[in-house]
Amino acid sequence: MGIKKDNLNSLSEIIKDQIEKYEHNIDTTNVGQIVSVGDSIVTIYGLDEAMYGELIKFPNNQYGLVMNIEENSIGVALFSNDITLKEGDTCTRTGKVVSVPVGDALLGRVVNALGEPIDGKGEIKTSEYRATESLAPQIMDRQKVNEPLETGIKAIDSMIPIGKGQRELIIGDRQTGKTALAIDTIINQKGKDVICVYCSIGQKNSSLVQIVNRLNKFNALSYTVIVSAGASEGAPLQYLAPYSATSIAEYWMHKGKNVLIVYDDLSKHAVAYRTLLLLLRRSPGREAYPGDIFYIHSRLLERSCRLNKELGGGSITALPIVETQAGDISSYIPTNIISITDGQLFLSSEMFNAGQRPAIDSTLSVSRVGSSAQYKIMKDVSKNLRIELANYNEMLDFSRFGSDLDKATQKVLLHGEILLETLKQKQYMPLSLAQEVVDLYVAQVGLLDDINVENIHNVLKLLDNSIISKSNNLYEKINKTKEFTNEDKKLVEELLLTIKSSLKEEISSKDNEFDFRLNE
Ligand code: ATP
Ligand code: MG
Repeated sequence: MGIKKDNLNSLSEIIKDQIEKYEHNIDTTNVGQIVSVGDSIVTIYGLDEAMYGELIKFPNNQYGLVMNIEENSIGVALFSNDITLKEGDTCTRTGKVVSVPVGDALLGRVVNALGEPIDGKGEIKTSEYRATESLAPQIMDRQKVNEPLETGIKAIDSMIPIGKGQRELIIGDRQTGKTALAIDTIINQKGKDVICVYCSIGQKNSSLVQIVNRLNKFNALSYTVIVSAGASEGAPLQYLAPYSATSIAEYWMHKGKNVLIVYDDLSKHAVAYRTLLLLLRRSPGREAYPGDIFYIHSRLLERSCRLNKELGGGSITALPIVETQAGDISSYIPTNIISITDGQLFLSSEMFNAGQRPAIDSTLSVSRVGSSAQYKIMKDVSKNLRIELANYNEMLDFSRFGSDLDKATQKVLLHGEILLETLKQKQYMPLSLAQEVVDLYVAQVGLLDDINVENIHNVLKLLDNSIISKSNNLYEKINKTKEFTNEDKKLVEELLLTIKSSLKEEISSKDNEFDFRLNE
């Protein structure tokens, strides 16, 4: 039994022919194979036409983001922590970029970086989506920042005012009240027709729960969206979170609304990005951050602006937070973000520990555009504040050298102390414009200089009560007209004098806690 020679020839001919005509038509344009997987990073062979930032689909409905495109492979950051993916699995292009649900249905909700609800309150019903990355509005699409965004915090509204559409950095060491400032500002937007987005990056879940509960307690959740990528979630989601939050905010800005967005914090965001790109084997630069670390923050913060009238006049005001180490604002990430933003609120840990809270250091804080957005009445009562505090600090240094101080120096020191005390403010107690103006006015003109520093807040509280009960709606009038007339000033002075004299009487009758300095 054997194959005839002729047949053999023709068989080999056939095989030869087939080899020659063989076309490998495995599609590597839209399908790829996993080469390696680990630490939320997948390296893929294939996907020849994948684009930077494109969404890639893996088995079990898992998704990832194209972060690296090399000659022979694609680097993808995986959104889930699933460990079932393995070498050889196939994945496909989706042709889409990452987008998140947007709209009013998100108000009062807590979502992750992909816009999926994580608060257990059920599905978010919305039909609109926005890409997480979008171009910042052009110069001609913008208008000047000249409307104030009231934080309700005396030290900020008076010395470092913030305007709608401004980007103001909150910077300071750990535990100096950075988050507290942002949360108080959100609470103060109640009834002011400002929508708030709080983006939490790399925080503990327990801190987030506290924040959500606080916002709920002060009825601030109904106009707020919380976007969270916690410490337990991978670097890809932490990297994505601020872009998603900004897209959610942009929806309302383009509808002509004013939005406030807080990024808490961008130091952790930078670290997440560094982790991601080191795993992708991108070469490290200064402090091991990748070379485009400036660009990831500038393209994010440039999206906050105030649109012009033709585009609806909406705005996004951004309060990014950055943590410093030992007060060093000249390290890499802080200097980057300082140069991108329109000013910074520097929180000093020495002031915080000395009880000066909020610990805003007026010498290192600045608002580059906010002063044109400040109400005139606020300008009038606070124009000398910074200078007086600077004088006070200078004299304080001097007074440490010698004990004999002349009367003028003593006066500056005393007045400075009173001003600093007046600027102290408890957490969760933002004030209305009128309340701030009254407090700052009486402190500025020296009406509180004859009161012991420890009693300043008691007296201010009594004055507040007496304005509410006796002044025939002075606060409402000031808040509405944004004017503080001479008659108003007189009225406030009279009320304060009555309080002071009744307290003095009490002191002379018994050893009261309100002990006044003797008028020198
Ligand atoms: P972290 O670096 O951990 O994020 P942080 O800088 O965000 O800290 P917060 O968490 O806001 O600081 O505040 C730190 C502590 O200081 C909290 O316990 C907070 O209650 C308290 N605190 C903040 N602001 C004030 C204030 N104005 N008056 C009194 N206590 C305050
Ligand atoms: Mg914080």
